[in-house]
Amino acid sequence: MLLGKQGAGKGTQASRLAEHYDIHHLATGDLFRDAAAAGTPLGLEAKSYMDQGFLVPDEIVDGVVDEQLRADDRMSRGFVLDGYPRNRHQAERLDETLDGFRLDLAVDLDVPTEIVLHRIAGRRVCSNCGANYHLDNPPENDWTCDVCGGQVEQRDDDTADAVMRRLELYEMETLPVIQYYRRAGILAHVDAGAETEEVFKHLVELIESRFDPRIESR
Ligand code: ADP
Ligand code: ZN
Repeated sequence: MLLGKQGAGKGTQASRLAEHYDIHHLATGDLFRDAAAAGTPLGLEAKSYMDQGFLVPDEIVDGVVDEQLRADDRMSRGFVLDGYPRNRHQAERLDETLDGFRLDLAVDLDVPTEIVLHRIAGRRVCSNCGANYHLDNPPENDWTCDVCGGQVEQRDDDTADAVMRRLELYEMETLPVIQYYRRAGILAHVDAGAETEEVFKHLVELIESRFDPRIESR
């Protein structure tokens, strides 16, 4: 599980870990954005909260996560969580959903607020596949995604107001989640102010120093 402020790089690192270990990447924000783009009732309801920087209500989030984790052999094979749990209630609910399966590691991606503000202000995202770019690191041609050819845009919730609200909610709602996993004895920290490659290397070292990964890395 990756924890950390908005802009800490959870999405980028979680995708890379999922690819490296060949496991499922569950990103609640991406699920809600996809549902909103598809115009489903769930997506449209979620969007009304997301665009303002509020959390989507727990009743909605819990149902979606439960369904996602029960699909295929995700619980036995392993998965990486990104953006969930985001409050104490969701952390407790996750324990129920896992029903005896063990969470191995919760990593807090540490990064100063000045850095995340810069990252989020310049962040641009592929509207089709979710690949992340930045004004300082744009796609090869004219905001067309290098991965899939989709249109690269600013997220509707990356406005100054919504970002401030998300960071406030992070302090109030998500810091207690870090405390929750510290008490459970599975919390680790990684400095996420470094380059993407460097952070990824530290994550893999951390994971492999903690376990004998049952899943072979590719
Ligand atoms: P960020 O971490 O930058 O806010 P995400 O893509 O993780 O980006 O989430 C975007 C939005 O989706 C959040 O602001 C919130 O409205 C909603 N969301 C995502 N995950 C959750 C969750 N676990 N609980 C409630 N709302 C969520
Ligand atoms: Zn794309």
